[in-house]
This record gives sequence, C-alpha cells and structure tokens, in this order.
Amino acid sequence: MNELVEAGVLYVVATPIGNLADISQRALAVLAGVDLIAAEDTRHSGRLLQQYQITSKTFALHDHNERDRAPDVVARLAQGKSVALISDAGTPLISDPGFHLVRLAREAGIKVVPIPGASAMIAALSAAGLPSDRFVFEGFLPSKSTARKKRLEAMGAETRTLIFYEAPHRLLDTLADMVTVFGADRHVVLARELTKTFETIRGDAVAALREWASDDPDQQKGEMVLLVAGVNATEDDAPDGEAHRILKILLDELPLSQASALAAKITGGKKKPLYQLGLSLTGEKGDCS
Ligand code: SAM
Repeated sequence: MNELVEAGVLYVVATPIGNLADISQRALAVLAGVDLIAAEDTRHSGRLLQQYQITSKTFALHDHNERDRAPDVVARLAQGKSVALISDAGTPLISDPGFHLVRLAREAGIKVVPIPGASAMIAALSAAGLPSDRFVFEGFLPSKSTARKKRLEAMGAETRTLIFYEAPHRLLDTLADMVTVFGADRHVVLARELTKTFETIRGDAVAALREWASDDPDQQKGEMVLLVAGVNATEDDAPDGEAHRILKILLDELPLSQASALAAKITGGKKKPLYQLGLSLTGEKGDCS
C-alpha cells in the first residue's frame, strides 16, 4: 500500500504497447502499491513488473476465466483489498479482457479508477494524419472474408475515420477486401510496430498500400493498426447512412446508373456522389458525367 492506493479500489492500469518506458509514474506507483494484480498473462507481464521491481502478487485473469473469477475478485475488493487490472499491452478492455470484471465491480458499488496510458488505436490515430475529431474504433474484423466484407460494407458511407486492429497474417486479405468494398482509391494508413524498433506508419490509396505491403514481407509482420479515411465528410453532397442503405437495396435489382438515379430521387440527394458510392459498393469502373 502507498499514498496513491486506496483500500477496496479496482484500478484499471494501462501498460506499454511495446516500449517499456511508456508507463506513467502513477501506474508504477499503483502497481507497486496494490494487494493484487490481475494480469491477462502473468508470465508476459512479469517482464514489465521485473523491469520496475514491482513485487505485488499477481494472478491470471484472461478471456477464458474472467467470468468465473470476477465474482471472487469483487468479493476481495469488498473485503478491502486493492486490485490492479492489467492486460498484455495497452489499455485493458480495449480489445482485451476486463469488461466483465469492471461491470461486476461497478454493479457491486466498488470504486473503479482508470490509470490512463498507452493504447495502440490512439497512438496510431495521433500520428496517421487522418481527421481525428470524430472516429470509430471497430476492434478486430471477422477473420473470414465473407463476414469481413459484410462488416466493411456496413461502414461504406461512414464519414468518420475508421480504426481497426489486424493480425499480420490477415493484412493482405483485409486490404484486398477494403479495395473491393471501399474502392481502390480510399486512403488507408498502416501503423505497424508502434513504439518499437521497426515502427512504420504509411498511408496511401488502399490498392497502392496493399501492393507496397505485398512487395515487402517485412511489412506483413508484427502488430498493426489500420486506419481508413471516412467518406469525405466535408462534402455536403456525401450520401448519409440512409441513402447508402437505399442505394444498396436498389443495386440488388438495377444497374448502377439507374440505381443511383433512383436513389437520388428517393433521398433528394445528388446523383453523382450516389453513383460514386455505388462504384465502390459494386467494384465497377464507371463514367458519370
Ligand atoms: N489493449 C490494447 C490497446 O489498448 O491497444 C490492444 C490489445 S489487442 C489484443 C492487440 C492488438 O492491438 C494487436 O493485434 C494490434 O492490432 C494492436 N497493437 C497492439 N500493440 C501495437 C503496436 N505496438 N503497434 C501497432 N498495433 C498494436
């Protein structure tokens, strides 16, 4: 226990995403002061704890045991024990375990305190050069192409910057699906190995980015975030979600030119942006004058 740690509190502590120096003084003090550390993988976190000579007792809390263990952790908190929750990297609960524990703790009236720090999505967004005032974090896409394309299609008209986590062995397939769904020219940024030796941040039209990554196997390794520019939000003409939905229905029945003309009539929007959205949905190469 130290002056930064209170009895009976659950601390949600962010840890580095690569560079072990990316941890706050407060996070270190809390980790050193708590009675227990719930770690996604005790061996993995052991390296960080050893580096900072933190000797607090650890136990494993991961996707497979979180629901079973959460009630016991909450009971200990209720008895006055202080607990820190950490994951392998970055902020717990962000595509990581912890949601069930935090929810149960809050339902039980336990005080939950965030100790903020690194998260790959925010680090990537801060350096990608894409609009950052409004963005959507989508976590991991489905691993199968059909489901992945379906998920991407649902975001076809999204004007906010889209952020995805991706596994290296799926990078090329996912970029190929993005070409199919968003069109070859949509701007995409690959943020790889952030805070580590081979950190790379590269943005390009998605088809060109895929070609570059395909030509260099090193770019298909490590940890990565993909950020996709939203449909141009500054254009007043940009079709909204409803126009997108209507266009998709019409495209099932009609050729692109007719579908976009009819969608424009139904929604009161302009034909050209609808036609262009249709191109990205159908993968056609068009000519709209
Ligand atoms: N909780 C973490 C966070 O706050 O970012 C994310 C955990 S999630 C299981 C792991 C994924 O995050 C990786 O597959 C990768 O997509 C992304 N990621 C984690 N560290 C990264 C890094 N150093 N560079 C790029 N992406 C990273």
